[in-house]
Amino acid sequence: MVDSLCKICGFACLLVCTIGAHVPEANGFDFVIVGGGLAGSVLANRLSASGEHSVLLMNVAGEPAKAYSGPVVLSDEFIIHKNLSASGGLSARIHQPGYSPVPDFSTDETGSSPARMLGGSSLVALSLYLRDHPEALDEWGAGWSWDDLRPYFHRAEGLQATDRALAESDYGRDGPYTVQELPAYTHPFTQEFIRASRKQGLPWAPDLNTDRGTGVGLTPTTQNADGSKVHAFDAYLAPALGRHNLRVMHGVRVDRLLIDDDICRGVVYRHLADGKDYIVRADREVILSSGYIYTPRVLFLSGIGAKEDLEAVGLKVVKNLPAVGRNLTAARYSPLAYRTFEPSLSHMMGAPISPDGLQANPSCYASAVLEATARSRSSVATQKDPNSTKPDIVLSFMPLFYSPKSAPLQYSLQGESWPLQTNGFTILATLGETKAQGSVTFRSGSPDVSPTITHDAMTDPEDLARAQEAVALAKRIVDGVALADRLEAIENGAGAEDMWSAVYDGRGTCRMGKTELDSVVDLQLRVHGIGKLRIVDGSVIPVGSPYLAVPEVLALAERASELVLGHKIDPSNTVAETATVSVRDLAEVLGEHFPIMEGVAYLAGMDDAMPTESLLSTPPMFAPGSSPMFAPGSSLGTWTAVAVLSSLLVSVSFLAFNGAKSRVHSSDKYSVMEGA
Ligand SMILES: Cc1cc2nc3c(=O)[nH]c(=O)nc-3n(C[C@H](O)[C@H](O)[C@H](O)COP(=O)(O)OP(=O)(O)OC[C@H]3O[C@@H](n4cnc5c(N)ncnc54)[C@H](O)[C@@H]3O)c2cc1C
Repeated sequence: MVDSLCKICGFACLLVCTIGAHVPEANGFDFVIVGGGLAGSVLANRLSASGEHSVLLMNVAGEPAKAYSGPVVLSDEFIIHKNLSASGGLSARIHQPGYSPVPDFSTDETGSSPARMLGGSSLVALSLYLRDHPEALDEWGAGWSWDDLRPYFHRAEGLQATDRALAESDYGRDGPYTVQELPAYTHPFTQEFIRASRKQGLPWAPDLNTDRGTGVGLTPTTQNADGSKVHAFDAYLAPALGRHNLRVMHGVRVDRLLIDDDICRGVVYRHLADGKDYIVRADREVILSSGYIYTPRVLFLSGIGAKEDLEAVGLKVVKNLPAVGRNLTAARYSPLAYRTFEPSLSHMMGAPISPDGLQANPSCYASAVLEATARSRSSVATQKDPNSTKPDIVLSFMPLFYSPKSAPLQYSLQGESWPLQTNGFTILATLGETKAQGSVTFRSGSPDVSPTITHDAMTDPEDLARAQEAVALAKRIVDGVALADRLEAIENGAGAEDMWSAVYDGRGTCRMGKTELDSVVDLQLRVHGIGKLRIVDGSVIPVGSPYLAVPEVLALAERASELVLGHKIDPSNTVAETATVSVRDLAEVLGEHFPIMEGVAYLAGMDDAMPTESLLSTPPMFAPGSSPMFAPGSSLGTWTAVAVLSSLLVSVSFLAFNGAKSRVHSSDKYSVMEGA
């Protein structure tokens, strides 16, 4: 056994001996999915739907706290406050020339990090839902064009809108991921930004996913109508948990693949509670869905990567694939900020975030923060391709001050110490497909050493010319806002050539393509040269974007489910039962003007002065063997069930995959904004 594992795995014998000596092999599953984030949740649902295949989903952390199903800003503060997305199980170091290194990609250090709980980074997402331009999708490769992917976007989407918007906009109506026609909250500054952008000639776009060219509009969101957040755990995973053929194992970190004669047979994982390593076998396929940082990590630790890099850290080369961890694309942005006199979000949160004496306005906790989006096509891009209509400059408007304190990656409402002194708004000038790229690399063959993310400096003249145009457009827009003479630009260097930070979301580190030399998976998402091993997550997306990747990962995983099963699937059937936490629910308990941190404390069940029964409580972590989610035949996790039943204050909405989605708003943004 030990010998055969040594041969199979091709890594340090000590670890293999530990496995062989202590751990009986687990029974095999048809499919083993590594990573229960956005893509992993879609796959777990779709692959187990027929009941024919046994599916194991493995994830670092467990069920998300229900605060993640709360209002967007409140859940953001919850994450920062509790630092819930950081975990000892996984970390990463980040380097970007010109900025101090970030030693630990955790919320402590950066204000954001890919989440570890089931649902993954969709839990910490701001709910922005902007699909990439069709021309960008057309570049992915055969089978992945806009026309190919459109039905899969629609399969995921459940638009809630007026009759007019339902008829005129380009979304699916029946999918599990709710998309809201109108955001739950819009700050008055945002309307002003839209007006000023229109004065600069940007056409009003009633819907930015339907009108895909140059224009300005409210940013589409994946929120429920009450402003609570939609994420992959609620939308895809929770409805599938009762299936007899789906197991979810959490508290585990997959470190290596079992590879025998170039076929992937299963995975080696560490049970984080006891620190021991175990294996589990896959009869049909292992699917890596660990995200753009950690999927390349598993490959590399398994001996799949650039030969010289593997040899440099003493790992046996199982497959020379130089593109593993390379070709990282992450949108670059620079935050142009302006001081104002009217209260911005930072002065609407109540003490201790806002200065004393300012009344909290809880309705703003439902803001998706980047409330409006203006976009245009640069003259650089137009000269290169006069026929293209794809915008390459994106300006995201935030009605609060964003301090680039420790870029790259600093993101949170804080940015400066509390109480927040700077009252203002920010325009994030953003570029997508820059020549500047990056990589995820590995200093060691040990699973306990974090990977390093490097974002190359943006130095290409074309990128810099585009950046200058973006800044100039933002400044022209601000010059045209009403009361522009009462604004003051905050001079913190933003907009300068060396002030373009990489966003926390990435793509391309295991990109799809035709050849082994410059890609990691083929166009069916199979790892080149290794049988029964696929990758389905943001890492395979081969083209950069100015937007974040929830829409693309949803469509990718929906289509990948059919590639894995080898046939078309009927996506209808399951009913998603979602318990959300709205501002109104909280206000009933905490009072009309409750400060945001009181909401955070209440949701966390941390404040003794609060009622002992918090709206929905955070479940503890379970060892895999005792987890109700892992127990054979178990249905919805016990904690989820208890929480749902005991939460009388919570709005429980029954969102059918089919039906109940086409709830109609009384006003829509066509009529609201047409005259703006
Ligand atoms: C702070 C933040 C805000 C964002 N906001 C938005 C937004 O508003 N709109 C938008 O469109 N996109 C947003 N994004 C991006 C979006 O969330 C991601 O693109 C998307 O979730 C990627 O999906 P994924 O499945 O590739 O990875 P993830 O969702 O990150 O899932 C990866 C999963 O794998 C697990 N995992 C990793 N390694 C292992 C291992 N070795 N063993 C077991 N499990 C493992 C992790 O625990 C995690 O659950 C945001 C991202 C971040 C970080």
